Amino acid sequence: MAVTWMEIVVADPEVGKLEQAIKRLQARKTSDQDWKKEIAHVEANGEQPRLTYCGNQTWYENYKPLVVRLIGRERKQHHSVLSSSEAYEVAYKHLYELIPACERSSCPCIKGFVIPY
Ligand SMILES: [Zn+2]
Repeated sequence: MAVTWMEIVVADPEVGKLEQAIKRLQARKTSDQDWKKEIAHVEANGEQPRLTYCGNQTWYENYKPLVVRLIGRERKQHHSVLSSSEAYEVAYKHLYELIPACERSSCPCIKGFVIPY
C-alpha cells in the first residue's frame, strides 16, 4: 500500500505544522515591505540584490532539514509509516510544491524543473 500525505500528517502533527509554515511563506513574502525597499535600493545602485527570494535556498536552508528530521530513515523515533523512505518522498514532493516560486532571474530552481533530492 502506498503511503499518502494524509497518513503522514495524521502520524505526526509536527508535519502539519511544517506544512502550515510553508503555506504562510507566500503571504509573508509578498507583504514584507522592508524587504522590497532593500531590493529597490540595491538595484538603484547598480548592485545585485542580495536579498532576492530564492525558492531552493529557502527550501534547503529552512525546510528540508525539518523534513529529514521528521520523516524517513533519519527520523530518531522509529515509526511504522514515517520512517520509510517512501513516506519521505511523498512528504518531500508535497511540501516542495508549496514553496513559492523563485524570484531570481537566472536561477535553476524555477518551478517546472526536476526536483533535486
Ligand atoms: Zn532560486
